[in-house]
Amino acid sequence: MQRFWCSSCSKTFQNDYIYTSWEHQVKTMMVDFLSQGLSTDEISKKSGWPIRRVNKIILSLELDKG
Ligand SMILES: [Zn+2]
Repeated sequence: MQRFWCSSCSKTFQNDYIYTSWEHQVKTMMVDFLSQGLSTDEISKKSGWPIRRVNKIILSLELDKG
């Protein structure tokens, strides 16, 4: 089975569908924005996502951490 390793979130995926999914790409982008120390407002402007969506993605990242 092929494995995919993501350098952004340091996770290994056995499924290329999960690795390349839009949701994963969005989360990877969000981790990148947060690592740059951007505020929710700045992330919204940079990405074009509404603040409400930005908050939702950040929340889902925190849930991922467990
Ligand atoms: Zn990743």
